[in-house]
Amino acid sequence: MIFSSISKLLHICHPRKLFIMLLCLGLMLYLYATYATDQIDKEFASVIENDTLTVCKENFSDKRQFVYVPQDPVSNIVTSTTQTSSHVEKLPKIYFVTPTYPRREQMAELTRLGQTLMHVQNIVWIVADDSESCNPRLDTLLSNLGLPYIHLSSPMPFMYKSHKSIPRGVSNRRAALSWIKSNKITDGVLYFGDDDNTFDLRLFSEIRHTQKVSMFPVGLIGDYSISSPIIKNNKVVAFFDSWPAKRTWPVDMAGFAVNLGYLAKYPNATMPYKAGYEEDAFLKSIGLKINEIEPLALGCTEVYVWHTQTTKTKAPLIKVAKDTLKNSKSNLMLLLTTLSEMGVNHFSGSGGVKAIVSRDGKSKSLISWAH
Ligand code: UDP
Ligand code: MN
Repeated sequence: MIFSSISKLLHICHPRKLFIMLLCLGLMLYLYATYATDQIDKEFASVIENDTLTVCKENFSDKRQFVYVPQDPVSNIVTSTTQTSSHVEKLPKIYFVTPTYPRREQMAELTRLGQTLMHVQNIVWIVADDSESCNPRLDTLLSNLGLPYIHLSSPMPFMYKSHKSIPRGVSNRRAALSWIKSNKITDGVLYFGDDDNTFDLRLFSEIRHTQKVSMFPVGLIGDYSISSPIIKNNKVVAFFDSWPAKRTWPVDMAGFAVNLGYLAKYPNATMPYKAGYEEDAFLKSIGLKINEIEPLALGCTEVYVWHTQTTKTKAPLIKVAKDTLKNSKSNLMLLLTTLSEMGVNHFSGSGGVKAIVSRDGKSKSLISWAH
């Protein structure tokens, strides 16, 4: 049937004509497909209020005792551990936005980052978890640090999970922007700090004085292992980044800070679900001009933030039954249950790597040891 219609068609049309027709059809389909994806992207990009956002906890109290007190470069605030809270309150507040998501390394990353942030005065840590629900264990971690924090949960819309390049951390950054907007926060400075990056404490002393938008180098980015503004006469004149991709602002998410009074002037500020172009689009949405950028980190000659990455390893399955763990009458039951809840590893009696116990250089299986 199909073959006969094709052969009829071949009789009517010249094969070259048929080829051109098919080519046109293919082109039309391609154009439609790109248009449709663009429409989806636009739809999600234009509104930040409609994303799923749950406020899990808002904790504004600061219970920290500072062991490290930096010299404030601008206001020259006293460097003594006995400085009063009014001194600290005079410093512009930093809203440090961290997108995070449940995986094996999550608790480790947030412990390390949280303990960096414990040294930073007048800061609010907005931790936005890419998750359907509020993770109580994450909340305990945040609350134990003693610093002011906002715990949000904001899952990535399902449709983006199947994209070729997944927009990582976008739903959560949008949730944080939405929280800042709905709480009408116009005093202080916004900074996007991923959970796996590494931050030098000097970064905070400098970014908190951002008037509009400040920029600085980010280490370990791309093929140059650095992404940085290029400075001449104390002004940003261009960018050094190995992936220009026609971006007006070829910078990394960790390479800029924004004053919240300035941000508030742009009610349509947004971050689209467009992998690789989030920074560019965000900075375009706040009307940035190159001559307004404030270069930091000693005229962009120092690296205060590193785009470190934790290698992905699948959470292992350990072969040990719950009963065996109970029989062991040891810490292992609670430890392994806790780790399993964190997604660090899992255990099962029916499969996985053998559970071994060692003492005095000798090993035996956990099953025989537990009996
Ligand atoms: N992230 C997220 N959901 C995801 C993947 C990533 O919220 O599905 C967060 C992640 O915790 C990190 C940021 O988005 O803070 C950037 O992701 P990642 O570090 O994996 O990407 P990179 O920028 O290092 O390539
Ligand atoms: Mn990362």
